[in-house]
Amino acid sequence: MTVKTRFAPSPTGFLHVGGARTALYSWLFAKNRGGEFVLRIEDTDLERSTQEAIDAIIEGMEWLELNWDEGPYYQTKRFDRYNQLIDELLAQDKAYKCYCPKEVLDEVREEQMAAGVKPRYDANHPKIKAANDAATADAPFAIRFRNPTEGSVVFDDQIRGRIEISNSELDDLIIRRSDGAPTYNFCVVVDDWDMEITHVVRGEDHINNTPRQINIYHALGAPVPTFAHCAMILGDDGAKLSKRHGAVSVMQYRDDGYLPQALLNYLVRLGWSHGDQEIFSREEMIEFFSLTSISKSASAFNTDKLLWLNNHYIKNSDPAYVAKYLQWHLDQQGIDITQGPDIKDVIKLVGERCNTLIELAAQSRYFYHDFDAFDADAAKKHLRPVAKDALALAKAKVEAVADWNTEALHQVIADVCAELELGMGKVGMPLRVAVTGQGQSPSVDAVMMLIGKDRVVARIGQALDFIAEREANA
Ligand code: GLU
Repeated sequence: MTVKTRFAPSPTGFLHVGGARTALYSWLFAKNRGGEFVLRIEDTDLERSTQEAIDAIIEGMEWLELNWDEGPYYQTKRFDRYNQLIDELLAQDKAYKCYCPKEVLDEVREEQMAAGVKPRYDANHPKIKAANDAATADAPFAIRFRNPTEGSVVFDDQIRGRIEISNSELDDLIIRRSDGAPTYNFCVVVDDWDMEITHVVRGEDHINNTPRQINIYHALGAPVPTFAHCAMILGDDGAKLSKRHGAVSVMQYRDDGYLPQALLNYLVRLGWSHGDQEIFSREEMIEFFSLTSISKSASAFNTDKLLWLNNHYIKNSDPAYVAKYLQWHLDQQGIDITQGPDIKDVIKLVGERCNTLIELAAQSRYFYHDFDAFDADAAKKHLRPVAKDALALAKAKVEAVADWNTEALHQVIADVCAELELGMGKVGMPLRVAVTGQGQSPSVDAVMMLIGKDRVVARIGQALDFIAEREANA
């Protein structure tokens, strides 16, 4: 049997990390089994679904490269199919029309709550029965599924184990509202059946729906898929992850400078493990993934760990991969890399010092753009009159370098130190501030090598002017 899984978001908001993790697990399981993955947009709630949310979900899935083999399907385009099956259930008396008005249902619910019983629809309740009997043929009606009254529903959740719910706990669910719209619990069953979904991987918030859905599968004569319900994600404070915890939309992580692979690696470990391994390539995730190793307990979000992984991927990924995602941040920060070194070389040099692509873009700037001012603290400390001779000599020697490479520049610094009898710091630091404008950077010879001769010479000149001006104003 070919494994087929799906991700079925309701487009009422952006793709958040909980949804992304569900999508990832579902996708990984399909890939692990050489199966297929379907994207389905569950947009039956016409009031709360928006095109903007649909676009945001697709954008998030694409950014994470959770590519789907089929879809996106839209439930709103499948109303005819749902209605056809609802008619069949009606004809077989597996569903029935319910004319009971909302006011009566509310009244009964309140009575039940006051009596301390679980509120549920009871077709035999005298008030409900009376309302149904009194209805005229043209009165509005909903359609309810006739849930079995005897026995229980049992399923083997791949994560949570065996679950058994007595049918006496379940009431007759509305499958089509009085406005004609079929409801979630019905559509999801029809879709998973029609789309031949073998494994339903979804959030634990749906676990109460599953027994109801299984009864609908049975009524339709459809095979019941295997279920896996994933535990929740909590914020680092232990509360349910919410907007309050900051970046919860997947695209916010793009904006905050994360690589998609870092987020995927973070999400896969958030509730799933393979020994004590922390770093997983896409291929390894696919190879090792199994539903049964997903944790039953909720996982807490930890931003420090995500940053650590992001740094790992910035440092260790192919620079071309990093460059692809860095470009967006370079654009955001107005950094034009057309004049200057290959950005991949900058990434190799600067990347390991950066936890995010925002930092990496900011640290790339001086390789491409000149600056008017030096960092004030760094200049105050290092661009002082005592540095004048060292910078002047370094400038002359840099100008004379014929074969522009890191070793030659390293030699320039060593020669200046030797000739002026200065320690490395007394030469290296002023030079660093001169060429980068700031007090911190990777090894200054490697930095100068990438910045290029003309710019390095001009910038040392600019630093010398700064010192001269400082002397004049002293
Ligand atoms: N549309 C549902 C949601 O976004 C998911 C339904 C399912 O996975 O079965 O919560």
